[in-house]
Amino acid sequence: MRRRPVRLVLAGAGHAHLSVLQKASLLRAAGVEPVLAAPGLFSYSGMATGVLSGALEPQRMRVDVAALAARAGVTHFAAEVTGADRSNRRLHLSDGRMLAYDALSLNIGSRTLDPHGLADLDAVWPVKPLARLLDLRDRVQAHLRMQGQSPAVVVAGGGPTGFEVAAALAGLIERSGARPFVHLICRSTPTWAPPRALERTLEKLRRRGAEILMGEVVARGPGHCRLADGRTLSCDALVLATGLEGPQEIRDLGLPVSQEGRLEIAPTLQSIADPTIFGAGDCAVIREAPRPPAGVFGVRAAPVLLDNLLSLGDGRAPRRYAPQKTWLSILDLGDGTGLAFRGGAWSLGRGALALKRRIDHGFVDRLRRASGEVLQD
Ligand SMILES: Cc1cc2nc3c(=O)[nH]c(=O)nc-3n(C[C@H](O)[C@H](O)[C@H](O)COP(=O)(O)OP(=O)(O)OC[C@H]3O[C@@H](n4cnc5c(N)ncnc54)[C@H](O)[C@@H]3O)c2cc1C
Repeated sequence: MRRRPVRLVLAGAGHAHLSVLQKASLLRAAGVEPVLAAPGLFSYSGMATGVLSGALEPQRMRVDVAALAARAGVTHFAAEVTGADRSNRRLHLSDGRMLAYDALSLNIGSRTLDPHGLADLDAVWPVKPLARLLDLRDRVQAHLRMQGQSPAVVVAGGGPTGFEVAAALAGLIERSGARPFVHLICRSTPTWAPPRALERTLEKLRRRGAEILMGEVVARGPGHCRLADGRTLSCDALVLATGLEGPQEIRDLGLPVSQEGRLEIAPTLQSIADPTIFGAGDCAVIREAPRPPAGVFGVRAAPVLLDNLLSLGDGRAPRRYAPQKTWLSILDLGDGTGLAFRGGAWSLGRGALALKRRIDHGFVDRLRRASGEVLQD
């Protein structure tokens, strides 16, 4: 007697699932029937600051997930997963539907940490979801058009994303001919790149009109924001680049999660408490080999995830994924240059940005072509 296929729900179309999706025929051949629950468009974070600075058009960073799923013959529920009833193996979707699963794979990204409850206030932009950064770009451009000068921009967060967003906004303002009025607020001395690389990047930002302050943004009022030590800064736009955490939907699963709310998984990418639930990318973390949230880990985990999802059907033992210990990061500094670093090696300049563009366009354009899009840009 033929066995019923294993019903696999792919929740979220993050980096790993975009790759798995294209191999859906292998899954079906192994007796695994994948369905996808995810919004219809994917925005690629590697290009988000390029779009924010005005260097790239928004369509360059978007992938039509619905078209990709259709081409792979995968049923697509164009909705977010809002909850799970694990005892009955059913998911709740944002459009009110329920979705049954035998196995679940989660690749739903991360959310911006908001320790002071600022994200929902007026003129505040958390860096995630990425789609809102377009609204920020429009608001800054409208200010420049109407006032003829830079808005007062405050970026909270001294990590690579804070630096990159501050530099992108400076670039956007420079493109209109104005001098940027940007504050970057770091809670502690940045150490995420080699010290000399950070010094040079900071010098460059300062020359362009950005001021870097040590402190923590804790409150927002009309036209200003307040730091923990009582200082106030003029502020027309506040951007929260305050770190990333796992989505609430992950905490709500009732499975072990890390301090940052990421699903704790084994090297086989399975929850350490429930082998029918897989995780990849920012929303999950390998307990014995934790890595910070970065797109590269979802991309590199994808082939192992695919094999282990195939093993649901063919019964083979799952493989282990060992995330790399060092990785290449390249920041787009919004002025035609980039900062590339890996371990102790680094490079600052046009070559770094050219390399970033080549990698990012290559990744997104492959997905856009796979979705059937005819590229004209
Ligand atoms: C401004 C900015 C720039 C960055 N630049 C870089 C960079 O250059 N390089 C780098 O490596 N990292 C970068 N990062 C970090 C990067 O965003 C993440 O590490 C990366 O996107 C994580 O990939 P992922 O596949 O886990 O999730 P994502 O790429 O975030 O994809 C998750 C997908 O799941 C969908 N989704 C979300 N919630 C649900 C839900 N409840 N149900 C169903 N679907 C859902 C989303 O719509 C999305 O399509 C940047 C981050 C920011 C904020």
